[in-house]
Amino acid sequence: MFIFKIEKYPEKILRKKCLPIESVTEKEKDIFQKMLHTMHHFKGIGLAAPQVGIARKIIVADIGEGAVILVNPQVIKRKGNDELEEGCLSIPQAQVNVLRSYKIMVKGLNEKGESQEINAKGLLARVLQHEIDHLEGKLIIDYLFLWKRINFEINRKR
Ligand code: ZN
Repeated sequence: MFIFKIEKYPEKILRKKCLPIESVTEKEKDIFQKMLHTMHHFKGIGLAAPQVGIARKIIVADIGEGAVILVNPQVIKRKGNDELEEGCLSIPQAQVNVLRSYKIMVKGLNEKGESQEINAKGLLARVLQHEIDHLEGKLIIDYLFLWKRINFEINRKR
């Protein structure tokens, strides 16, 4: 099975605002499967299309409870807060504490192009929020305090 190359920070595509998918065709379905394979291959629990060089609104996730494929995701409800350290396949050097909503409701399309709503809490909610951030060009290092961010940039260049 084909494995995508993971785009690493500071690749420009990671900062792009991704475009929505207009309709789910065979081409998109092929991308979903390849993204899932790529995520599993690199032992990730979530992956967003820009991380594999595609500036489109597609995310996949799997926290061990089954694969989630979500197209054009939009968070429509949030509840509670939760802080935890996160990593990212595109920024292997970074571990960042990120404050996120504990529970969310996300609206979007499923792998067949049908509308779906996902209620998620805890780790799955966190992963989905992380991946949705990617679609807006937002990365975990954006959550760092400025001085930590400067340190990160200095150490990255060493
Ligand atoms: Zn990431």
